[in-house]
Amino acid sequence: MKQKILIVEDEQRLADLHRDYLQQAGYTTECLGDGMLAVPWVRENAPDLILLDLMLPNKDGLEICKEIRIFSNVPIIMVTARAEEIDRLIGLELGADDYICKPFSPREVVARVKAVLRRGLQSAQTDQSLVLDENCYLATLEGKALDLTAVEFQLLSILAGRPGQIFSRDQLMDRIYTDHRIVCDRTIDSHIKKLRKKIAIVSPELELIQSVYSVGYKYKNP
Ligand code: CA
Repeated sequence: MKQKILIVEDEQRLADLHRDYLQQAGYTTECLGDGMLAVPWVRENAPDLILLDLMLPNKDGLEICKEIRIFSNVPIIMVTARAEEIDRLIGLELGADDYICKPFSPREVVARVKAVLRRGLQSAQTDQSLVLDENCYLATLEGKALDLTAVEFQLLSILAGRPGQIFSRDQLMDRIYTDHRIVCDRTIDSHIKKLRKKIAIVSPELELIQSVYSVGYKYKNP
């Protein structure tokens, strides 16, 4: 059965472009240009993924995302016209799965849609048991100790504390380096890389910590 994608976009030209490419990639699509129509449509039709523009007539993407999250975990990709908006959106903890910034190529949109749907599938198939003991910084996965450094433990603990929520590198740094010493973005990347390696030793199949392209990281959806 074909997966159903809802495109909420008031620029007709863009909506048509998304629709054409997504249909070509094998998805069925529905386009809505009015923010007021989105939530009732989602309730009724349960799409597999939503491409949600931020600025919409009558109800904006933020409000729509919040309302949908009350009753559904459907993957949501937020679309914004301003790159600098993305950090603020992440900070609002809306529960979106990915963010893309206009202008983008329709091919990129299709790639993101596929990636987000694939992640959803993986998390539905895996069932891991992660236990974090904050007192002694001890993490065990499937009954095996992970042998983490303090920073790796903190990273895992922040991410796992809110499965599915995207954290930017800045947000992770702020939470870990409370003394605000200057560390560069890549510091977080290198800690994450080591952390993933240690997780992979215990469970090679499990992709617990996921990169969100050009944005940051998240722990896999519950
Ligand atoms: Ca718009």
